Amino acid sequence: MIINNSLDEVKKRENALSIIKDIVESKGRSSLFDLTGLSGGFIASPSELSLLETYVGPAIFEDDLQKVGKEHMGGEKVLPVNRTSSGILATILTLVSKDSNVVHYLAKLPAHPSIPRSCSLVGANYFETDVLDEFEIPENTSLVVITGSTMDHKVIDEDEFRKVIEMAHEKDIPVMVDDASGARLRTVVFNQPKACDMGADIAITSTDKLMPGPRGGLMAGRKDLIDEIKVKVSQFGLEAQPPAVLAMLNGIKNFDEKNLVDSFTRKDELFELLNEKFDNFETTPTGVMISPEGLASELNVSHNLSDHDVAFVFSFILLKDHGIITIPAVSMPGASPTIRFDLSTNDAFNLDLNDLYKKIESSFNKLQEVVINEDKCKEIVF
Ligand SMILES: *Cc1c(COP(=O)(O)O)cnc(C)c1O
Repeated sequence: MIINNSLDEVKKRENALSIIKDIVESKGRSSLFDLTGLSGGFIASPSELSLLETYVGPAIFEDDLQKVGKEHMGGEKVLPVNRTSSGILATILTLVSKDSNVVHYLAKLPAHPSIPRSCSLVGANYFETDVLDEFEIPENTSLVVITGSTMDHKVIDEDEFRKVIEMAHEKDIPVMVDDASGARLRTVVFNQPKACDMGADIAITSTDKLMPGPRGGLMAGRKDLIDEIKVKVSQFGLEAQPPAVLAMLNGIKNFDEKNLVDSFTRKDELFELLNEKFDNFETTPTGVMISPEGLASELNVSHNLSDHDVAFVFSFILLKDHGIITIPAVSMPGASPTIRFDLSTNDAFNLDLNDLYKKIESSFNKLQEVVINEDKCKEIVF
């Protein structure tokens, strides 16, 4: 095994970042292709940057964000936080008590780890399912969670979304929607309404997923709940800082639905190329992906690595040899090890799909060569 725990994940991320730095310094930013779908953009003008002081910044940008954020997310009030995970933690700290139940419905397991981790921190019982018939709300439930679009971009069915909200509200239980990528994917590509417009009490999106904003979380929803959550957010230092708030504001303003719609058609072209050689690629709404299990079963050599390790090694080869950034190399601990090539962000627009295909194929051939040598694989990852 190569990646055994969160510490290993932190170390592989450090290595990935140092490879990225080397590429930028030796060949320039244009030799990197960030296909994670997380752009981490920071759009800001010099005059805006000069207002980034501790109190002046929030006075200006948080106020503007109320308007722009509510247009994007719906709801009565928005609250910018450090990450989506921070918003999830703050909501659970606020609404969930020890020994109460939290139930979660999503299109496909697994949930983002911040949800079960936050529940365990407050001592709540947590249940999740991706089978609607098995979804129930027991006595003593403090929060119902819905994921709008999973880490691997599986989007919930709109009728199921509404049904779960209805079940929760019949029992007067608040609903939190983890809409990290869903706030855009669901609405733009699948024409679904905003979570708050379907009755969600709280919705959270990630401001660098499928939009040109910074890593950050934007919560929206009922004013009374947002106000209570805001207290916890400030007590525990989970709030977004002024620079992030400014970049969120401009990220939302610059969000272009057309990019998502274009990638929705281009992904089929890439999928067809890959499908000639590989069996286990799947399409996502805005790109293609291969699961760790799928990738491992493409290999025709015997080896001792776990499926997840195979995905990590592949992600590092893509990065080192071709400058292609995919999530497993750079992710935070606990993120999905699925290899996803997202075509909705800036770097993908300039990429010839035949070229991209050749890079993926050549990385796979290299994976096939190195996977038999565990020491070599460790060297690649760390
Ligand atoms: C990315 C993601 C998160 C967490 O976002 P962070 O900014 O890393 O905290 C939570 N839930 C889902 C479904 C996600 O895709």
